[in-house]
Amino acid sequence: MIKSHLLNDDDGFDVTGRLVSNLSIEEDEQEVSLRPHTMSEYVGQSKIKKNLEVYITAAKNRHDALDHVLLYGPPGLGKTTLAHVIASELGAQIRVTSGPAIERAADLAAILTNLEKGDILFIDEIHRLNRNIEEVLYPAMEDFSLDFVSGKGPMARSIRLPLKHFTLIGATTRAGMLSSPLRDRFGMSLRLEMYEPQELMQIVTRSSGILNISIDPDAALEIASRSRGTPRIANRLLRRVRDFAEYDGLNRIDLAIAKKALSHMDVDELGLDVTDRSVLEAIIDKFSGGPVGLDTLSAATSEEATTIEDVVEPFLIQLGFITRTPRGRMCTPLAYKHLGRTFTE
Ligand code: ADP
Repeated sequence: MIKSHLLNDDDGFDVTGRLVSNLSIEEDEQEVSLRPHTMSEYVGQSKIKKNLEVYITAAKNRHDALDHVLLYGPPGLGKTTLAHVIASELGAQIRVTSGPAIERAADLAAILTNLEKGDILFIDEIHRLNRNIEEVLYPAMEDFSLDFVSGKGPMARSIRLPLKHFTLIGATTRAGMLSSPLRDRFGMSLRLEMYEPQELMQIVTRSSGILNISIDPDAALEIASRSRGTPRIANRLLRRVRDFAEYDGLNRIDLAIAKKALSHMDVDELGLDVTDRSVLEAIIDKFSGGPVGLDTLSAATSEEATTIEDVVEPFLIQLGFITRTPRGRMCTPLAYKHLGRTFTE
């Protein structure tokens, strides 16, 4: 059975319930209108875009399918969006599913046999694909064929079914969790980077146009700077700021209302929220700044270990607030300073 792809818990809601979380919540899914459709609308990630443009043009000129692509990076950076952009640039059909949604090898075989030449199969959270299901992908990706055994015992025969030349685009937040046979079968492995505030400002400005509210450049930059380098968070904060503006009877978002709304949301000037601060405080107060192991930290903060690892930590590491050592996570003097604490060796 193929379910729609989920980036979050089974109800489709952000498991953390956080405004600055980069996991998808239902509201984001309703806002597909904000999703760019072409490479030129897709902001940032210039290195990736440049490479892709070359490969896409080459594939189109050869009238062949694009090589399989692996996209990796934290949630909300635009992997799903990029998969759709690639499909539209190629003029190809896209089929969307996710690792946990494919429950049996036969489900995957059914999807694969229904693909036409040049079609794109997007598998989100591909690291969560069951290993025996994953094995179906190996010959499919490499030789465009499906191998299966018909009959039992001495009568068993191995049958090879040809598939059309398709492109697999896999997305994962954990490239390290992919098995090496699977990883090796991707022709391209592209890592999405966190966005610069100027890039997020461009996204916020474009989105407010689509949401039909004008925004001052300094207000757009303020939202961008507090979005943890993540477009999904930028769009989510923008929608909340818009609510505050509308509540106050304003027809444009200025810096004052943006600041007021963001402080009501408890999102500080770096984009840290209550959860980020509680993780930092736990390391500092309960473990003398670390090192502390992930599971211990998870127990101390009541946050899921995967949430800490996928959502909270990447940005704190990027800010230089946390370092990962073989013995666990440690807070740096920068984190102490941000929280107004005194650092002692
Ligand atoms: P991921 O699949 O990596 O979790 P998505 O592709 O779902 O992330 O992106 C989340 C949202 O952020 C999208 O709906 C889109 O509106 C916005 N977004 C992501 N990347 C970009 C980008 N490069 N330019 C503009 N908007 C983007």
